[in-house]
Amino acid sequence: MSATAYKIFEIELLGRTFLTPNMARLTFGGEQVAGMRTEAPDQRVKLFFPRSDGAPSAIPDRPDWYRIYKSAPPAERAPMRTYTIRKLDADARRLVIDFVLHGETGPASRWAINAEPGDRLQISAPNRLFDGNSGGFDWDPPADIANVLLIADETALPAVAGILEQMYDRGNTPATQAFIEVPSEDDRQQLPDWQGLEVNWLARNGRADGYGAGMIRSAQAAVIPETAVTGGDADSGCADIDSLDVDRDILWDRASAAGDQFYGWVAGETAAVSQIRKHFLKDLRIDRKHLTMMGYWRHGKPHV
Ligand SMILES: Cc1cc2nc3c(=O)[nH]c(=O)nc-3n(C[C@H](O)[C@H](O)[C@H](O)COP(=O)(O)OP(=O)(O)OC[C@H]3O[C@@H](n4cnc5c(N)ncnc54)[C@H](O)[C@@H]3O)c2cc1C
Repeated sequence: MSATAYKIFEIELLGRTFLTPNMARLTFGGEQVAGMRTEAPDQRVKLFFPRSDGAPSAIPDRPDWYRIYKSAPPAERAPMRTYTIRKLDADARRLVIDFVLHGETGPASRWAINAEPGDRLQISAPNRLFDGNSGGFDWDPPADIANVLLIADETALPAVAGILEQMYDRGNTPATQAFIEVPSEDDRQQLPDWQGLEVNWLARNGRADGYGAGMIRSAQAAVIPETAVTGGDADSGCADIDSLDVDRDILWDRASAAGDQFYGWVAGETAAVSQIRKHFLKDLRIDRKHLTMMGYWRHGKPHV
């Protein structure tokens, strides 16, 4: 049988460190990590957590696992959540994922708070034996990109940190505005630095305006190059902007700006990203081909 882009792996927790008060770094190992790969700093994976009765997941490693998973009654399914590969060294069998610790209300955050070395999980991750494009990433700017805008909250901070590290390591250091909303000042992380990189941390610090407000302020403060703005009818190609239901619809716009000079990547709480999308497309008339915008989680609702 030919290799699939993603497959199911078994991983084992090796250790956990607390990067900041609300972010833990979990390092996983196990023989099967050798079979994984990652293509981009926002490469996504699905993790399967124990059910509320404590039963571990039992996802079969076969191409139609999702059909089988969905055919089980919801109460019998292992909770599945999406995370970002922060680091992968397949040869050393080391996989790193950074978890926001937002309390015990969700199976993923609860697991990350309570897990002990030796605990095991299943994960759907890119398959090293597959030689095509895994399709599980969205950071894909033109190679000679001149102007980058990143807006994120803490759930997308692992991706943003990876994006900045990749640009720095490759010596590709365009003018970059990064805006990162975090729970507190103490949740700021060490990031690369170069001339032309401007990092803005927006700490909620328990502010009454709450989740997403810092991201929305950032979108208003961001400097957008004129070349990224489209002329003509503001509603052109944007019929879905007002009708998007942030409680139900998936918010996932992918830039298609090959050869263009400006690239915006926005990810975080879905209602906030939806407002930013409206501001960028309708008020500022940025051509959507420059923008990748993704709802990573929903305030008040479990996200799968
Ligand atoms: C492509 C992609 C990549 C992602 N990468 C990461 C990553 O690397 N690290 C990471 O931590 N998250 C990441 N996320 C977000 C993560 O999937 C969600 O936060 C997820 O809802 C967490 O699951 P849970 O079981 O803890 O909570 P859920 O069961 O989904 O939700 C339970 C409750 O907690 C709330 N909640 C969920 N997340 C948060 C949060 N961050 N802060 C406050 N309240 C919250 C929900 O609104 C709900 O009320 C990513 C999401 C996507 C789509």
